[in-house]
Parts: sequence; structure tokens; C-alpha cells
Amino acid sequence: MLGPVLLAAARSHSIRRIVAAAPVTRPVVDRFVAGERLDESMAAVRSLAARGLEVTLDYLGEDITDPAEALRNRDAYLQLAAALKEHGLGVKAEMSVKLSAFGQALPGGHELALKNVTPVVEAAAEAGTTVTLDMEDHTTVDSTLAILADLRERFPQTGAVLQSYLFRTEDDCHALAGEGSRVRLVKGAYKEPATVAFQDKREVDKAYVRCLKILMAGEGYPMIGSHDPRMVAIGQELAHRNGRKPADYEFQMLYGIREAEQQRLVANGNRMRVYIPYGTDWYGYFMRRLAERPANLGFFLRSLATR
Ligand code: FAD
Repeated sequence: MLGPVLLAAARSHSIRRIVAAAPVTRPVVDRFVAGERLDESMAAVRSLAARGLEVTLDYLGEDITDPAEALRNRDAYLQLAAALKEHGLGVKAEMSVKLSAFGQALPGGHELALKNVTPVVEAAAEAGTTVTLDMEDHTTVDSTLAILADLRERFPQTGAVLQSYLFRTEDDCHALAGEGSRVRLVKGAYKEPATVAFQDKREVDKAYVRCLKILMAGEGYPMIGSHDPRMVAIGQELAHRNGRKPADYEFQMLYGIREAEQQRLVANGNRMRVYIPYGTDWYGYFMRRLAERPANLGFFLRSLATR
């Protein structure tokens, strides 16, 4: 029952102020966030790349309420693209963006987000890499997929995220299983109503497998975004069944979660990409990680109690 409460708190401005101000929050946040500054995120990139891991970088920010903030986020991503160009890792280091950080929820937000994110996608291409559009709550899916379609006209390698908890996602998987399409399949991290999403974890897992079957049988490039050992095993089995080589799909996990498993997958010849968040606006991301796993909340509360 704690998960939905934490997900609701993830969007509360007053709880954000309390959690962010607590002195003990920082060390716990550090487990999931590479740092506040670009150079700290690049240190994480270097360390993971040295161990054969690929990365996608997320400059933290979401649900902005001021157009000026969208421009600041755009500029932070442009700096990130410049740093990636310097490192020359190509597609081994890509970027993940949340369109709500680019103004998607503001009036005229669809056009604004497209306008603000386009230079970032251009800069990524110039740096020899690409961008994946993260997926946020269900109200944003149509707009995000339309922006994806628009961007892919010039930058066909732009990727998207689909969430297996949404009823619509099998259809979206069919639509995005074509050649050149890059789709990260995840279970979904937002609090969604029963009118649009499965509420039972077993149903979400079953839907994940159905969606993965569609993507693996298609012509695109599936990205298996899950820490679940069952989904990893099923992904490998489906790749084998569809004649896919390790270069034809990849695994993705979040920074700080199941690191030994990340390393094991690389050691076994798989492509493994780590999602690295950095920046100061870590609250929403951090709360979703707590909601996913009660043990993480226990760790956080214990550190409060031992102060
Ligand atoms: P679960 O069934 O939740 O977990 C399986 C096992 O993984 C757990 O038993 C535990 O061992 C481990 N685990 C899972 N979560 C945690 C955690 N927080 N801390 C410690 N251990 C954990 N969601 C979106 O809605 N939109 C996105 O754009 C998006 N992008 C993502 C990008 C990547 C690379 C990944 C890996 C996830 C992303 N997510 C996104 C989050 C996703 O939707 C899930 O909420 C999250 O991955 C947990 O689901 P799971 O598949 O790992 O399986």
C-alpha cells in the first residue's frame, strides 16, 4: 500500500520541501543519483564505460511550471551533448529526456516541448549519439509519441519508452516495432487510474512479456528496461527465439540498482546500458525509486532514525 502513497507524495510540492531539506536525505539520494553537476555525471560515465557498460544520461527535471525553466533544461542538455561529443563514446553514451522538463505541461505545451527539445536532438546527432524520450504519466503519451514521430522524420534513431502497465501499450508496441525504431520497454513508474492501467503487479508483468514478444519479433531495436530477473531471462530467450544477436537489442537498468547483475550481463556478452540521472531536481525521481521497493524506504527511514 505504501507505493501509491509515495507516488502521490512524488508530486506534492509541500512534501518535496520537507524531504529535500532533511539533512539525511542526501546520502540516500546519492545511491540513485550520480551527482548534482555535469562533471560528476561524466565521472560516472567514465567509471561505467571502463567496465564495459553503456549509458544514457538524464538531467533531472520534470513538471516545470515556468517557460524559463524549460530553456534552462534545454541548455543543460546542450552542455551535456557537448561533453558527450568531447568524450567521443558515440551511441554508447546517449541522453534521456522528459518532455515535461521542456514545457509539455504548459499552455501550448506540445509545440513548446517540440521546439525546445529539437536543438537537443540535433546536438546529440552532432555528438554522434541519440536521444530517448522518457514516458511520463498517461496523459502525456499521445503528445510524446507525436513528438517522437516528428523528430524521427529528421532523426530516425530517436528512441521512446513504452510502459507495460498501460492497456494501450500492446498497440503502441505494434506501431513502433518497425525498422529503425528504438523502444525501451518498462513496467511504468507513475500512479495511474484503473481506467487506463493494470493495477495488479502480475498483470503488469504478463503485459510486459506480451509487449516484449511484439518488439522482439519486430524489425526495431528493443531495449529491455527492467531489473526483474524474470524479464531479463525472458528477454534473452525471446532474443534467441527470434534469431537476434546481442548487438540487436540491449538491457537497461537504473544507476545504483542491481549493479552486480549489470556487470554479469556485460560479462556474458550482452549490451547493458545504465540510466544515469544527475542534477539538483532529484525529488520526483527519488520518490519513484522509493515507491518501487519498500526496502529502499526502510533504508531511508533507518538513516533518519540513526541520526
Ligand atoms: P520490479 O518488478 O519493480 O522489480 C524487480 C526487482 O528489481 C525487484 O525485486 C528488485 O530486486 C529490483 N528493483 C526494482 N526496483 C528497484 C529499486 N527502486 N531499488 C532497488 N531494487 C529495485 N518508468 C517510466 O514510467 N517511464 C520511463 O521513462 C522509465 N524509464 C526507465 C529507464 C530505465 C533504464 C529503467 C530500468 C526503468 C525505467 N522506468 C521508467 C521505471 C520502470 O517503469 C519501473 O518502475 C522500474 O524499472 C521497476 O520495475 P522493474 O521492471 O525493475 O521490476
